[in-house]
Amino acid sequence: MSKKVLVLGEIRQGELRQVSFEAIAAAKQIANGGEVVAVLIGSEAAILANTMIQYGADRVVIPEHPHLQNYTSDGYTQAIIQVVEAETPEAIILGHTSMGKEISARIAAKLKAGLISDVVDLEVNGDEMAFTRPIYSGKAFEKKVIKDGLIFATIRPNNISSLDKDASRTGEVAFIDVEIKDLRTIVRDVICKTAGGVDLTEAKIIVSGGRGVKSQEGFTVLQELADVLGGAVGASRGACDAGYSDYSLQVGQTGKVVTPDLYIACGISGAIQHVAGMSNSKVIVAINKDPEAPIFNVADYGIVGDLFEVVPLLTEEFKKITV
Ligand code: FAD
Repeated sequence: MSKKVLVLGEIRQGELRQVSFEAIAAAKQIANGGEVVAVLIGSEAAILANTMIQYGADRVVIPEHPHLQNYTSDGYTQAIIQVVEAETPEAIILGHTSMGKEISARIAAKLKAGLISDVVDLEVNGDEMAFTRPIYSGKAFEKKVIKDGLIFATIRPNNISSLDKDASRTGEVAFIDVEIKDLRTIVRDVICKTAGGVDLTEAKIIVSGGRGVKSQEGFTVLQELADVLGGAVGASRGACDAGYSDYSLQVGQTGKVVTPDLYIACGISGAIQHVAGMSNSKVIVAINKDPEAPIFNVADYGIVGDLFEVVPLLTEEFKKITV
């Protein structure tokens, strides 16, 4: 049976996040020929609505209220609930991002719905949907099968392929007034710590540094390699605690969970809490001068050596390929 599926498009720094398109692709599968309705919130929503349609959404709904210019979990939750009430979808899909994690739980509680979070794979077999998600810090996977009731899931970035952009697609973009009340926080301005760059959770390639990088300046060699590869720089908590890197770049159990195509761990020992955040990367390369370092247990390729010798050599070699 075909379904109506609601998808939240996430806007950051004036752009739609890639996971929004991945959510549309997942929604298309669930819709099974039904309608995919995208919800876009924020000051740039109107400009970006057509992009959601070009990536597969059939229609876009933009809730409007002066308090929705900037993200607040209270405001967005209220707006999305009102769209859900108006649209009565059979499924809701969000990205498993900081925002998605925060508001999905609140929306689920308000709707008294179950929530399947952090989905990495989806199989649709008629009316039966199987959602795969990691458990025990990525050591095992569980499959949740749903046959009826509201389907509500968040999908992990970089795991479900988006559809190709089709510039010829058109669809309705509707603005609806929503009521936002009892906000505990009013965001007047957003000042970004870092401008531009590749987002860690959506990066296809991550060059990550640990305490072995030894200083903030040491991270420059990692950044050079990341730049050549078009990737992002990450860090272990050891490196963050030592003040070599910002906590916003921490990968792991208490940091960001990443699933890039390539994860290069430099001077990282491979503690269980770090591995929890990167073990599902498609290819893992470890560079460590200690041949006994546990990171080699999860690595597909291991280089035993001094990262300050190995990383610049890799950068030089990749430069030859990428120019
Ligand atoms: P170390 O363990 O000190 O390893 C440094 C490595 O660098 C060593 O293997 C060494 O051989 C190598 N090295 C040194 N010099 C060089 C060189 N020149 N070239 C090559 N290799 C070199 N950690 C996380 O990363 N993320 C988390 O989210 C996280 N959450 C945690 C949550 C809890 C509740 C707890 C208790 C801990 C958590 N940790 C987390 C910390 C974790 O246990 C480790 O302490 C941390 O990951 C260690 O960081 P590291 O590998 O950079 O440092």
